Amino acid sequence: MSNRETDAGGQGDGVDVDAVVIGAGFSGLYMLHRLREQGLDVRVYEKGDEVGGTWYWNRYPGARCDSESHIYCYSFDEALHEEWEWSERYPEQPEILEYLQWVADRLDLRRSIAFETEVTGATYDEETASWTVETADGERVRTRYFITAVGCLSKPYRPDFEGLDDYEGEWYHTARWPHEEVDFSDEHVGVIGTGSTGIQFISEVGGRAKHLTVFQRTPNYAVPARNRPLDADEYEDIRANYDDIWERARDSRLGMPFDHDHQTDFGLSDAEIRETLEERWQQGGFRFLHAFEPGTVLSDPELNEFIAEFIREKIREQVDDPETAEKLVPTDHPYAAKRPPMDYDGYYETFNRDDVSLVDVNESPIERFTPDGIRTADADYDLDMVVFATGFDAMTGALLALDIEGRGGQTLEEKWEAGPHTYLGLGTNGFPNLFTITGPQSPSVLTNMPMAIEQHVEWIADCIEFMETEGYDRIEATEDAEAQWVQNTNMLAENMLFSEAKSWYRGANVPGKTQVFTPFPGGLDNYREICDRIARDEYDGFDLGRATAATTAD
Ligand code: NAP
Repeated sequence: MSNRETDAGGQGDGVDVDAVVIGAGFSGLYMLHRLREQGLDVRVYEKGDEVGGTWYWNRYPGARCDSESHIYCYSFDEALHEEWEWSERYPEQPEILEYLQWVADRLDLRRSIAFETEVTGATYDEETASWTVETADGERVRTRYFITAVGCLSKPYRPDFEGLDDYEGEWYHTARWPHEEVDFSDEHVGVIGTGSTGIQFISEVGGRAKHLTVFQRTPNYAVPARNRPLDADEYEDIRANYDDIWERARDSRLGMPFDHDHQTDFGLSDAEIRETLEERWQQGGFRFLHAFEPGTVLSDPELNEFIAEFIREKIREQVDDPETAEKLVPTDHPYAAKRPPMDYDGYYETFNRDDVSLVDVNESPIERFTPDGIRTADADYDLDMVVFATGFDAMTGALLALDIEGRGGQTLEEKWEAGPHTYLGLGTNGFPNLFTITGPQSPSVLTNMPMAIEQHVEWIADCIEFMETEGYDRIEATEDAEAQWVQNTNMLAENMLFSEAKSWYRGANVPGKTQVFTPFPGGLDNYREICDRIARDEYDGFDLGRATAATTAD
């Protein structure tokens, strides 16, 4: 294998760098590390002025990860988890950011990252099998491998409400939260959205603001997280068992090392099911989803409805006013068919406070902003500040924003007009040498993300090593393999309860977006096996070759 790491300056074969990676979050940092270890010259472009990705941008009050901290980190380097210690069962945003900053320093990654640099375009050249990547500063860099590490939830979505320009108060989107502290204490605050983000924000800011008005369109099934500090004994136990923890996480559907109590509810009485759910409710977090095998929960309507009803009862128990409780009870979608949120600080109990009120915008839609606040079909709400917790143009938004032009001048936007088409979520026909970490039709958001990210980064790194060793300089998913993979993903999703929810998994949250279920729902364990087999079969379903120019020169 060639050792290509060079001083600043060009490569022997006409490219400026071997690989360009976009994004310096969990994926980009590990991709950089792996490729550098393989001797490649890598440049990372990052829009923010720091590493962190999601955890750099999403710094709203209450931001925390729903995956448990001891598995929401890298597993690839034992030294990293020997040296780092999480303080709580679920990591808070500043601690995750600090972790990623520490990893960047520890692995000496920063010298290869251009911060505050936005990529505005990338064009493939067939003759040389290379990409030219352009930045907003006008820099153009030619690279052999072009790797996106832009995350699945990074392009914020804000509904286009009439009158926002004339609104005289302050407004923020949770995914672009200011770095300075926002003081709510004297403010009448409105928050739109009750997804995972809204629920965290509401729990944190309810009681801190003079008044908080929650504009809810769809209620959710929030399960208690049961957060707590991690004590030294518990941590010692985690460290002693890390090998086993990682093995079980890698070999699981959701990238989490949790056992389930039952595969199905077959043969169990209602009382036995309830007892299992009650025990899991006390454990909290994603352990609740593991009372039964998660794939069964998401495909057996009766079991799912039993669990949904169990949660509905729990919500009613926590909310004093029966009318408010009914508004908070979800009935329009199965449990976990939308990403299930976690309740950290008594989310439902927040609505028992006099200084928190709930507006059901399903019943009474938001009509517009006025200079003083929000007008719904029924009333005007005077607000000093409005917070949009309205989510993201998920899965494809950030990728399409890169303005990628592949073989024959076809753009990714054109190619994905009817929804994303990929092979394994890693490659796309018509876009050679483009690798998309946690791309559409890979397990990504249906898993504990670092597990899915590591699997992708390692697969891509091995693939590139194979190409370098075998003398290939072009790889491209075939049309057939891609069509089959898309069909396979759609079929799996249609046979699950995901199809019964209007979720961002399907693009249903963004008006006008093509609705198609986007992540691969077959489980990280199965997906990993498929990817490994394809690699063993010398990248079955991909065309490997040499650049036209190289072939001609031969
Ligand atoms: P989200 O799940 O898409 O929620 C957006 C919310 O805004 C929904 O309640 C939605 O209502 C509402 N909304 C959107 N447009 C609206 C409109 N025009 N009028 C009224 N309401 C509107 O976004 P998110 O909460 O930011 O979460 C996105 C994902 O990020 C999560 O599912 C999760 O995967 C990830 N996340 C993770 C964590 C964590 O690990 N702790 C924390 C936050 C986020 P509808 O439901 O009716 O569309």
